[in-house]
Amino acid sequence: MEDYSSNLIRLLEQLEREQTLPVENYERLITERNDTVIRVAAEMARHLCDRFFSRNVYTRGLIEFSNICQNDCFYCGLRHSKSIRRYRLTLDEILRSCRLAWELDYRTFVLQSGEDMYFTRDRLVEIIQSIREEFPEAALTLSIGERDRACYQACFDAGADRFLLRHESADAEHYASLHPAGLALESRMQCLQDLKEIGYQVGAGFMVGSPGQTARHIAQDLKFIETFDPEMVGVGPFIPSEGTPFAEEKAGSLELSCYVVSLLRIQNPQRLIPATTAVASLNPEGRIRALDSGANVIMPNVTPLNVRGDYMLYNGKICITEEAHAYRDSVDALLAKHGYERHVGRGDYKEDRHALR
Ligand code: SAH
Ligand code: SF4
Repeated sequence: MEDYSSNLIRLLEQLEREQTLPVENYERLITERNDTVIRVAAEMARHLCDRFFSRNVYTRGLIEFSNICQNDCFYCGLRHSKSIRRYRLTLDEILRSCRLAWELDYRTFVLQSGEDMYFTRDRLVEIIQSIREEFPEAALTLSIGERDRACYQACFDAGADRFLLRHESADAEHYASLHPAGLALESRMQCLQDLKEIGYQVGAGFMVGSPGQTARHIAQDLKFIETFDPEMVGVGPFIPSEGTPFAEEKAGSLELSCYVVSLLRIQNPQRLIPATTAVASLNPEGRIRALDSGANVIMPNVTPLNVRGDYMLYNGKICITEEAHAYRDSVDALLAKHGYERHVGRGDYKEDRHALR
């Protein structure tokens, strides 16, 4: 046990120093982990995070503007073939959600949806320009799935700053086992490459404990993140969703999700890593555990309450009924209790790096 710990701790130190490890060593960090290693990794990660960001936690107001999706990802509660009440927000409703987010001090708006092709390039551009016009100082993040490069470019030119598109799995076979035939890792990777080349701050990421995922797969995910080096990385546990092919599968673990957050932080201390809604949905302690493991972003939901319950990616998703002001206050209380502070600002990757070093 002792030997295992000291060998693995040496690997953690090597990762901190060199910001790279062979994939075999990432795999060892997963398979041979024990409570000591997990604790040491969290302490190292939090220490690095404090060094670059002090105790600041960045917020992003999450606007789930459509739950309509053309895809059939096996894990997701919004998948096309699931019968649920579908909605789309109007431009006006989206703008109202932005106003609410602004009023709550959230200086990044995240527009997330299923792959809803009603939102053509032109409609997206119109939305982005309208938000830009009213909120020139806010950052705007899109999370709308796979589109062609011209669409990504037009959205960027209209004023979108960041884009979240999880790679979901860096192993082509595992990726294929999570998605129907039409969706391939290759096109997901092409999208990520396009987004990066266009100039977005890009977020990749994956679920921990998705069906069929092995330690080797997670190691490959860590290797991919290391080489692609996105500005943001979203990881959270897989949580089953009723009425999907994976409804009866086991949820991912909080412990492993938080450990992966620590490894990602040690790998690149400057990146933006959210304490995800999934981690908070899995366990009431999840959000604080993720922050204590090296996360530095939270994404409070500002979607209108009348549709929020219809954006159920998985069972037991939290923040379905919380009024946004009350939720912000509860976040503040939680952060204060654990020695963190909600930072008011755009929270860009590069700005932070220079400002806080
Ligand atoms: N349609 C867009 C954005 C919405 S889905 C897209 O797919 O990128 C956003 C993320 O939710 C996905 O990337 C996926 O990793 C996560 N998600 C979906 N179903 C989930 C589940 N059952 N458990 C945990 N996370 C899930
Ligand atoms: Fe659609 Fe995204 Fe869910 Fe896949 S994960 S079904 S693309 S909303």
